[in-house]
Amino acid sequence: MSKVKKDSSVQGGQDTGPKVYDAVSLVSELLGRATESRASDVHFEPTGKGMQIRFRLDGVLKTMEELPNGLAENIVARLKVMAGLLTYRNDVPQEGRMELLDSSGTRVVERRVAVFPTIHGQRAVVRLFYEEPALTELDQLGFGETILAALKQIACASQGVLLLTGPAGSGKSTTLAAILRHIVRRFPGKSIVALEDPVERRIESVSQVQIPPHGQMTFPTALRSLLRQDPEVLMIGEIRDAETARIAVEAGLTGHLLMSTMHSGSPAGALLRLLEMGIEPYQVTSSICAVLNQRLLRKLCGHCKELDKQTGYYRAGGCEKCLQTGFRGRVLISEMMQLDSQLRKAVLAKADLEELETILSSKGHIDLAQDGQRLLGKGVTTQEEMGKACGRAL
Ligand SMILES: [Zn+2]
Repeated sequence: MSKVKKDSSVQGGQDTGPKVYDAVSLVSELLGRATESRASDVHFEPTGKGMQIRFRLDGVLKTMEELPNGLAENIVARLKVMAGLLTYRNDVPQEGRMELLDSSGTRVVERRVAVFPTIHGQRAVVRLFYEEPALTELDQLGFGETILAALKQIACASQGVLLLTGPAGSGKSTTLAAILRHIVRRFPGKSIVALEDPVERRIESVSQVQIPPHGQMTFPTALRSLLRQDPEVLMIGEIRDAETARIAVEAGLTGHLLMSTMHSGSPAGALLRLLEMGIEPYQVTSSICAVLNQRLLRKLCGHCKELDKQTGYYRAGGCEKCLQTGFRGRVLISEMMQLDSQLRKAVLAKADLEELETILSSKGHIDLAQDGQRLLGKGVTTQEEMGKACGRAL
């Protein structure tokens, strides 16, 4: 049983006095543990019977604690104080942030707090951000050689559009940040602007602009006026609407290298999505240089992974080091589609998804599942993780 559980069960039945103090140390202990285990989010969820504390570890939620009801309110109150929120408003959603030093006492770890009222009480989620210098280099993200070389070549281009696709949490913004850093280093002095919602990590020598949700400055308005600031490289956090898509494509056609992300399951799907948004086929074919599709898979814990003799692949075990999840850290798989004359012709002829994918596979395109084979063979991840990431059983 962990320290938190013991403390809270002792204090749970008592009156308000000691509980306030208890919530303070509880919250700091929980957030400390979350940071140590590199959790991306901590969920404080009222269940009616108590409060469930869950950590998101490598993309998957894991229940860490069940706390008694008496503590729930004080815990949320403590989080609100730390994030500078209104403690007396329990009936509206609130969002705030706190910046704290990590355990080494040197680096600042940003934490974003969102509180939401539910019928069982207030629910809070703390999102944790880490500075991970090792992960910010393009060479170290885990791309296969061919894709890495293609990305570096695109980074040198003076115009065109590079699109990244994949679901939320597939590492797209980490890749974009790494490409921007690569450009900064390779071409010092280039004028680079990034529009983000929110700015997730600071990149030196890049003018980063935060586009707040529901604010007056939207992606299209910011993008339009930024183009008058003569940038050479532009990064837009995400293309969500037709207007942003249209301005982005025009920017890519008029002497800017533009990079962005888009929700789509496959590279060919991203092209079709642009067409659905009303972009003309000739604009798509002349502006898009490549579409990169990527996923993050959980990495097997090196201390407890087990060889499955039947399949020859490794499977997850569970030990103290990985908090019994069997996994530690994540690894990337990717596929890239570069537009050549055959694909351009097909887009201009209004080919559908199936036709585009047939062309791709006839050219020996390496898809996500094929890229993942190198990891399965080395025992880095499992078949289940691969199946989940590629959206089908393998
Ligand atoms: Zn383990």
